[in-house]
Amino acid sequence: MKTSRSRELFSRAQRYIPGGVNSPVRAWKSVGVFPRFVVRGAGAYIFDADDNRYIDFVGSWGPLILGHRHPRVTGAIQKALAGGTTFGAPTESEVEIAELVRRHVRSIEKLRLVSSGTEATMTAVRLARAFTGRSKILKFDGCYHGHSDGMLVRAGSGVATFSLPDSPGIPPGFVANTLVAPFNDILAVDSRFKQEPETIAGIIVEPVCGNMGVIPPEPDFLPALRELTRRYGAVLIFDEVITGFRLALGGAQNVYQVEPDLTCLGKVVGGGLPLAGFGGKKEIMDMLAPDGPVYQAGTLSGNPLAVAAGLATLKQLAKGRAYSELEQKGKRLQEGLETVLRKYGIHAVMNRVGSMMTLFFGTERVRNADDARRCDRERFVRFFHGMLNSGIYWPPSPFEAAFVSLAHSNNDLDKTIKAFEDWARKESKG
Ligand code: PLP
Repeated sequence: MKTSRSRELFSRAQRYIPGGVNSPVRAWKSVGVFPRFVVRGAGAYIFDADDNRYIDFVGSWGPLILGHRHPRVTGAIQKALAGGTTFGAPTESEVEIAELVRRHVRSIEKLRLVSSGTEATMTAVRLARAFTGRSKILKFDGCYHGHSDGMLVRAGSGVATFSLPDSPGIPPGFVANTLVAPFNDILAVDSRFKQEPETIAGIIVEPVCGNMGVIPPEPDFLPALRELTRRYGAVLIFDEVITGFRLALGGAQNVYQVEPDLTCLGKVVGGGLPLAGFGGKKEIMDMLAPDGPVYQAGTLSGNPLAVAAGLATLKQLAKGRAYSELEQKGKRLQEGLETVLRKYGIHAVMNRVGSMMTLFFGTERVRNADDARRCDRERFVRFFHGMLNSGIYWPPSPFEAAFVSLAHSNNDLDKTIKAFEDWARKESKG
């Protein structure tokens, strides 16, 4: 496979762009090679600067549930573009998308649009604090809620007592009000509330975690979070930046039948353009400026091109059998990969919810970040390269979700399984 053009572009990029990329995972550091530079996408495929074609399971890290360049989405963007790129004034399409989100996500009584998931979670947390008059926010080890200072805490073993920032540049005081508990551990959450019944403003959680690899909630986890937050007067925030419109039109909250107070949306809601949002109970959302005292604003919030792409995507998803099709495709891929694992005696477990999935090598059960960290990273790197060399573009980290889109055909999935078998055969011979 020729890769000289990507290599050349990456060395040029490194001169004037930190690390050569505009978001760290794109640099492929964890798989030890330079990244492929992408020139275009079409349906389930991307094409790199050396004209190699790949079946894409990254999907721009989640937004592209319809695949690349879906004609309804590009058509809607073109139509909106004819009217202008941005006005900094209200537009009808913002009303339309708020109404549409409200129709599908029943817990969202009011919605504010922003441009990134980071902004959505940052403001949802601010609202929870303002609404309760309390300071502390509880998050879960391994859940990612964007890169705002207070949320950039993964926490290690000292978690139960101290929260340490994950990045230099964040004074410890900025995360002193961030508590961390292990995902799927309701006893840990319960004991935090017992220790500080009146200081925890809210809990923020990815209802299905996608940022330590895919980890589903255990059956009683989300209902127990709902019950505890109610009991202690705290706000429950679901960060559905990945799962919103990915698992169902109503998101993970609809799949698991648990209603949060606030929901953060991103990725799919913007159809591949920079759009995100947060919404929920009227009495909390009405605290936002201009009606209330909680400040939040954005020059490009509700940008007409991004809203057009989002609306077109959501309308397309609302047609027909999108989610049963995604489930069927996800299942086909999972079963195919698992058959290969068994055939070649490769020790791994696949966690999957609908069209998001992660293959954890060298382990049996992954229910929290500690389990995920125990996976065999070296084998993952070999797997990644084996797949890449066969034209399969899998996320370049063992702790990311792979996404199936509606554009993946059964043939694409079967080719992926075949590439996996080619790799597994060699791998099993050592
Ligand atoms: N929340 C979750 C669950 C995410 O996965 C991400 C990004 O991957 C974010 C928030 C931040 O979104 P953005 O990258 O749009 O700022």
